[in-house]
Amino acid sequence: MIKQDRNRKPKPPKPILFYYGIAFLVVLLLNWIIFPYLMKPKVEEVSYSFFLDKIENNEVTNVEMEENQILFITKDSMGIPYYYKTGYVNDPELVSLLRAHNVEFGGVIPRQPNYFLSLILSYGIPLLIFWWIGRKMSKVLGDKMGQGGLSLGGSAGKIYVPTGDKKTFKDVAGQEEAKEALREIIDYLSHPDRYSEIGARCPKGVLLVGPPGTGKTLMAKAVAGEANVPFFSIAGSEFVEMFVGRGAARVRDLFDQAKKKAPCIVFIDEIDTIGKKRDAGINTNDEREQTLNQLLTEMDGFDGDSGVIILAATNRPETLDPALLRPGRFDRQVPVELPDLQGRIAIFKVHAKNYKMDTHIDYHLLARATAGASGAEIANIVNEASLRAVRMGRTSVSQEDLEESIEVVIAGHQKKNAILSPEEKKIVAYHEIGHALVAAKQTKSAPIHKITIIPRTSGALGYTMQVEETEKSLMTKTDAFNKMVTFCGGRAAEEIIFGEITTGAANDIERVTKIARAMVTRFGMSDTFGMMALETNTNMYLGGDSTLICSSKTSELVDREVQNLIQAAYQKAKQLLMENKGKLHELAEFLYNEETITGEQFMEILNSENKYTA
Ligand code: ADP
Ligand code: ZN
Repeated sequence: MIKQDRNRKPKPPKPILFYYGIAFLVVLLLNWIIFPYLMKPKVEEVSYSFFLDKIENNEVTNVEMEENQILFITKDSMGIPYYYKTGYVNDPELVSLLRAHNVEFGGVIPRQPNYFLSLILSYGIPLLIFWWIGRKMSKVLGDKMGQGGLSLGGSAGKIYVPTGDKKTFKDVAGQEEAKEALREIIDYLSHPDRYSEIGARCPKGVLLVGPPGTGKTLMAKAVAGEANVPFFSIAGSEFVEMFVGRGAARVRDLFDQAKKKAPCIVFIDEIDTIGKKRDAGINTNDEREQTLNQLLTEMDGFDGDSGVIILAATNRPETLDPALLRPGRFDRQVPVELPDLQGRIAIFKVHAKNYKMDTHIDYHLLARATAGASGAEIANIVNEASLRAVRMGRTSVSQEDLEESIEVVIAGHQKKNAILSPEEKKIVAYHEIGHALVAAKQTKSAPIHKITIIPRTSGALGYTMQVEETEKSLMTKTDAFNKMVTFCGGRAAEEIIFGEITTGAANDIERVTKIARAMVTRFGMSDTFGMMALETNTNMYLGGDSTLICSSKTSELVDREVQNLIQAAYQKAKQLLMENKGKLHELAEFLYNEETITGEQFMEILNSENKYTA
């Protein structure tokens, strides 16, 4: 491991030389041109007779005779001296004339009337300029790099005073398991003596792991808030990006700063940007590696009871360097998962508190309509709803606002002036009803909450809001297959009604394929392979990329198997729709005319007398 030389002074950045250069030039200018000009009394050249007149008038005070010129000073009634010179004239009477008028002569005319002033001007001002530049520089650098005057090392971490932006666990909805895991840390920060008495040492580092937007930053802030300690935060990328070549120095400074403020929380967001496995791939990054090394050194360097606790967040824990995860460093992992149904209800309610809401809001329904949404998305939905309420000229947020903004956040804004041709609109109506009808006919599929066929900015032409009655952690093979059938419903309806297919099913195809692949390669749900793992999930929190771990021959078989599954699902969808062709027409007609159909309207039509006989 490369250990950084702590005493090495980092090179000062270029601009300081530039400032000193300017100061130097200013001094030269002052001393060579400006001061001599200011200091030298202005000497006017006059005639000899003028000189004699001035003597006669008793105005001359001093005279200095030189080899070929005479310098003299006169004073007017106010006592202001004037300096003159005149050519030398061999005048034997001059001396007696001067004597007669009591003029001091032969003396030296003081050329620098105020010696003290000139001292100040030539040394004082430059010194003042240097002092000012020094102050300016240290302020600029200080702002960028933290406190401490001209420290060029570059410090990191903004200090959050425990008041102000204070968060507590009340602001974090759901996530009970994560809160429970972090309670011990809060307790330690509040009563360190209890722990030191027994000799117990608190973990130095805790890794918060979970998908983006699940509230990891919020949670870290809340821990600091609950324990009432300062909160330092920095993003991993900042180490590397802000000051190129200074990542390690920044780490060092961050810890120096934190140790002074202990007990405190240091939060490192996106730690994977600096903590990636070091030998991963050819394009190793020296800078990043040094930064990571410095982080490891710092973590080893301070005692468990120093009171500095590091929380770090990542959504790619599998890419982290094992050295970072070993005991004494980030040896604890706290999962911060996407919220479940109860969690989403709670998050909706926490955020609703900040807005003026109608009295009757069905949070349960909202939560059911947002399966898979993160806390950040829900926060966004509530805010969108409030914006919509204002747009509509209302004074509080209604259920309708919230439902509409779920669509907006998930499917994009309505494109008000994008007009579907009647032909297209008809296709979209049948397509969407195809999905919904297939879903409704398979008892276990979720019923729809609402369908709209208003084009969205995201490019979607229609949108089906599904609401899961209950949330399940396990999916049976039948569930998975039914889901596939539902995705196939749109395209199947197009084919049945129009005898032609469109590009509108691209997204359905993608999703149906994903399910089918997962069933075959990861869930052991195919007859051919059974319980054989054919893929590993490499990126579980960000979309879930997976890599095939089988021979190319097997991979061919996998493709065949996936294809068969999709084929079967499509056939089933088609069959279901054929059996209910009358209802398909009826529902699509309603949607075509109204552009929106709610779950109740849908079920009403579905369960009513047949209008069309297939
Ligand atoms: P992460 O760091 O995991 O990407 P953040 O902590 O930045 O996520 O969350 C972004 C925002 O989402 C928060 O500021 C908060 O408004 C909202 N949020 C996320 N999770 C929750 C939660 N469990 N409770 C309340 N708000 C949440
Ligand atoms: Zn579709």
